[in-house]
Formats: sequence, structure tokens, C-alpha cells
Amino acid sequence: MKSLWNQAEADRYPTDLEQRVYTSQLLGRNPSLVLHGGGNTSVKIQEKNIVGKDENILYVKGSGWDLATIEKEGFSPVRIAHLLELAKLESLSDPQMVNELKTQMTRASAPSPSVETILHATLPYKYVDHTHADAVVTITNTPSGLARIREIYGDRVVIIPYIMPGFDLARLCAEKFAAEAHDRTDGMVLMNHGIFSFGATAREAYEKMIELVTLAEDYIEKQEAKVAFAPVEIEEKSLSIPLAQMRSQFSKAAGFPVILSNYRNEKTLAFARREDISAISQQGPATPDHVIRTKRIPLLGRDLDAYIEDYKAYYGAHASEATTMLDPVPRVVLDAELGMCAVGKNAKSAAIVADIYHHTIDIIQSSTALEQYQALPAKDIFDVEYWDLEQAKLRKGGKPPAFSGEIALVTGAASGIGKACVESLLARGAAVVGLDINSKIEELYSRPDFLGIQCDVTQEKSITDAISQTVGKFGGLDILILNAGIFPASRPIAQLNTGEWQKVMGINLDANLILLRECHPFLKLAPQGGRVVIIGSKNVPAPGPGAAAYSASKAALNQLMRVAALEWGQDNIRLNSLHPNAVFDTGIWTQEVLENRAKHYGITVEQYKTNNVLKVEVNSRTVAELAAEMCGTLFTCTTAAQIPVDGGNERVI
Ligand code: ZN
Repeated sequence: MKSLWNQAEADRYPTDLEQRVYTSQLLGRNPSLVLHGGGNTSVKIQEKNIVGKDENILYVKGSGWDLATIEKEGFSPVRIAHLLELAKLESLSDPQMVNELKTQMTRASAPSPSVETILHATLPYKYVDHTHADAVVTITNTPSGLARIREIYGDRVVIIPYIMPGFDLARLCAEKFAAEAHDRTDGMVLMNHGIFSFGATAREAYEKMIELVTLAEDYIEKQEAKVAFAPVEIEEKSLSIPLAQMRSQFSKAAGFPVILSNYRNEKTLAFARREDISAISQQGPATPDHVIRTKRIPLLGRDLDAYIEDYKAYYGAHASEATTMLDPVPRVVLDAELGMCAVGKNAKSAAIVADIYHHTIDIIQSSTALEQYQALPAKDIFDVEYWDLEQAKLRKGGKPPAFSGEIALVTGAASGIGKACVESLLARGAAVVGLDINSKIEELYSRPDFLGIQCDVTQEKSITDAISQTVGKFGGLDILILNAGIFPASRPIAQLNTGEWQKVMGINLDANLILLRECHPFLKLAPQGGRVVIIGSKNVPAPGPGAAAYSASKAALNQLMRVAALEWGQDNIRLNSLHPNAVFDTGIWTQEVLENRAKHYGITVEQYKTNNVLKVEVNSRTVAELAAEMCGTLFTCTTAAQIPVDGGNERVI
């Protein structure tokens, strides 16, 4: 492991706290040291308070901040004198500790201090760094981990047996450190958990962390326990239906829709196909931060119900009002066919689970190669999770967004109404897949809840591939917005050639039949019922001359929606149409089309834009917000409706 210290960079962080920010970010840049909010750092600084008294303040990582991206505001300032008094107490409950930490902060708006705050305060060094380094976790999760750590570090480190993070751990560390530390002590290893380093400067503590972890990495390499995968054959097969069925069952068990992301690659398949997979994967997590329940499901879906019942029975015994999230549902599924699936209440949490478990796979395999993977006992895992949930509840609370855990597919999503629909759905918490023939869709957003796929909707294979990718990425499909369409140049019927007619029909009508048909099995599995919104046109109720192909295609699409509403009501799928008119911030309205239309009606372009009863300009966002609302609870009892969004059109009224 290489030090990332760069003097020129470091010089831009002159103060003690800024130095703390800099090396925290350096630690965060290495995912084998810290992952997603794991690990924490601190610095002790003497400051004058508002009445002119000197106070020693511990700036410690606040909850909700990631080391990789932490800034000064991410550190919570806590009075050290009080923390040291607390450390002498016989006991302190978690809620008491949370209260004490919060009420001893010198900046009211700072985030809640880390659960490891008291531990940081008791270590007699200016800078303290703490990580859950993969290499250290690998070694400490073996039966003779303690002896191995001694072998690697000699008496350089103080070793702490496993204890759940919190007050008891802080107290034990303080006691052991006071009794065992000496001149050469430059670290502290926490069994099944991670490692601490310290120093008088930020650089010293950071470089020490790199040095200590490198020793562990070298040890693993020397023991030939570094992970290597035997090549695995990945058969081409469609697993979309079993994946969507599994997500549907998990959602039912959880009581709300969940995201299920599939990772089917050499690494996950090789791991899931190991002969000893049951033994090695059914233990606890590698470190208390990595609390994930794993389930290996031997045959797709077959024993899922029984499994969920078992799970409820086990966790029912531990039930408390805090344990509400995803309780009867595993966070990770391992299967010889599927590889790995990560489950979360939204796309972001599923992505975090996946990241952590990718590391866990390495740790488990490496520990197994070293000796044997031996994780924390089940009770400890439960305790940590309980704690974590308490924290999450304290931090957030409130209702999740309307479409949390749901998956939406939008066609024609790179611009105009389609892009606006993507934004409206993301804002309501859905994971969104955008299709567009324009490849810029792939870069539209870089976030875990969006997937952009270049797709020509006139190609059946492109559509089925896109749906498979959608289900692989998020686990199913709840909402479908059919928006892609073309608006050809004005042409009277007498001059309308067959090719042009067919092209319009192919995109505006035929493609949508394929999309509806291929999405149907997934919409049918949607935990809260499938929803489809068709972006129609004012031309359906009120066609215009010169737009025969467009008007006919949209009218036929509208009729298709009505038939689907009749056929799919029994599957709890509802379909509705929107009929926008004169939405000018979209791809089909070129300046030329706009001028032609205005000329046709003998008015200016400006008049044409607000040529409606309400004299308002209708934009993409207005249409998208209505489309999103039509997928929400207000429209629970509505199917096959057609709603104009046109500012009022006399011919339609
Ligand atoms: Zn920790």
C-alpha cells in the first residue's frame, strides 16, 4: 500500500484542522482502508472559547460524512475534558452517550460525533486515525488471528479483543492502552474490527497507518493467501424473471418495495460456486460496520418463502420498534446461477451493500486461504445493527420519498419531456432507467439510482436487452413512461409516401407495442402495482391537417393503452394517457416546425406558444410532474384516463 501524501497538495491545508481534513481524504481515497462512512479520524486542538477561556477540543468525524469527501464542517468539535470524565464512568448507555456527545459540542450545527469519539479522546496523541483495513480485518477474522497480529507487529501495537463499538469499547481501550502502551507503541489493533494509528502531526499518523497496514498486506502475500479466482464460465441466459420474482417476494416480506441489484461476474460466481460457500458465507460480517445478512439461496426462488418465515421467527424474537428496516429480508443473496444480489431500500443503499460485500468476498476468501474465516458471533452482529438503526432513526426520521424502492423506465429520456420525467421520478425517490437513441443518455447523470441505455426502440432486440439490463441493475420494473416519438415535417395526405408513414408508425406505435408486451411480466410483479403513462398528444382528440401519420400513430397508441387497461386491470397494472400540446422545449419542435405552424394559423411564434385558453406556455416540466403524479397514490383508482395538459384547447374542450 502506497502513501498518497503529496507535499504540494498538503501545503494548501495550513491549519491543524485542515491537515486533518487532508489526510482523512487520503485515507478515504483507498477503498481497502475505508468504505462508505467506515473509519474515522480526529485531531485535538486548543481553542479560546467565547468568554476567553482556553479549552481542549476534539474534532472528530461526524456521522453522515465520508472520509473520502469530508470537509471541515464534517468534524464535530467536542470538549475533551468532559469526554475524559465520561471515560471514567462504570457504564454509559448508548442513548446517554449520544446525548453527552451532542451536548458537549461547541458548534450546535455540527453533525453527531462518531460512536468512537470517547475512544479518540482517551488516546494521548494529537492526531488519531482509524480504519477498517481489509488486510487487518482478514487476519483478525481467523481463529489464530491474535497470534498472527503479534507475529506481525510484535509489541508495537496494543491488541483489543472484540467488543461492539460504543462506550464499553472506549473504556476497555483506555484501560488496556494505559496498562500496555510504551515508547515504541505506534498502533492499536481491534480484533474483528480494524486498526488505529497516531502521531503528533497529520502526516505522521497517516504514514503510520499505511506502514502498519502494509505489514499486514505483506504477511497475507507471504502466506500465499492473496485472493485469486479460477476462471468461471458465464453462461448466457436470461435471469430477469427469477430476479424480479425474488425482488417481489422480498418487497412483500419487507412491507415496502426494495431495490435488488444483481452482480453476475467471474468474482461473484466463483465465490457463490465454492463448495464451502454455505459454511463461509453464513457467518457474520467482516467488521461491525459491514453488517449485512447474507443468504445463499440454492435454487432460484424455490425455498424463499420458507426462508423468509425462518428469518421472521428468528428476528421476531429480537423485535423492537427500531428494527423496522428490511427486517425479514437478507441484504445479500449468493447463488450459483445469479452470482451475488444486493438488496436495499433504495438504489444508493443497495450499491453500498454491494460495495461492502465485494470487499467481504475478498476478506472471507483470504481468511479462508490463511486459515479459516471466523467472524463475529450472531448476537454481536444483531447488537450493532440495532445500534445502527437507532442512529439512522435519530439522524433521519420522516417519511421516505413517494417512489422509494421503485423502478421506472422512461423512453426518449435524453431530452425534452422524457428528460423532465427522469428528473421528476428521481426527485420522488425512484431508481430510473432512461432509454434514448442518442448515446448522450449514457452520461446524462452519474448517480447510483440512474442508468442510461442507448436504445433504438425500432429494434426488438434493443428493447429486450434494455429491459434485461434494467432488471439486472435494480430488480424489476414498477413504472413505465412511454414518451419516445417523432413529429415529422408537415405533409398533406396526397403527398405522404408509404415509407414516411411506416417510419412514424414504427417509432410512435409499433415500438410501444413491443415495450408494453415485454414489460408486462415485470409490471405484473410490481409490489405496489404496475403503472404506465403514455405521452399522447392533443392531436388524438383534435388532429391537425398535414399531420396524418403523427395524429394516426398517437391515436392508435392511445387505443392500445385503452385495450391494455382492460386486459391488465386484473394484474393490478393501470395505464393512463397525457395529451400535451405545444410543448416547445422538446427535441421535435425545431424553429422551422414552429415557424411553419405559426404561419399556418396566421400568428407570430410568440402568440403561437401561448395560443390556448389560459394563455400559458406549457413546458416539459409541467408535463413530467403530471406524469409522475399519475403514477402516485392520487391516481390509485384511475386507469385508461386521458388528461389534457395544453393550457386549454377550444377544439378539445
Ligand atoms: Zn471502527
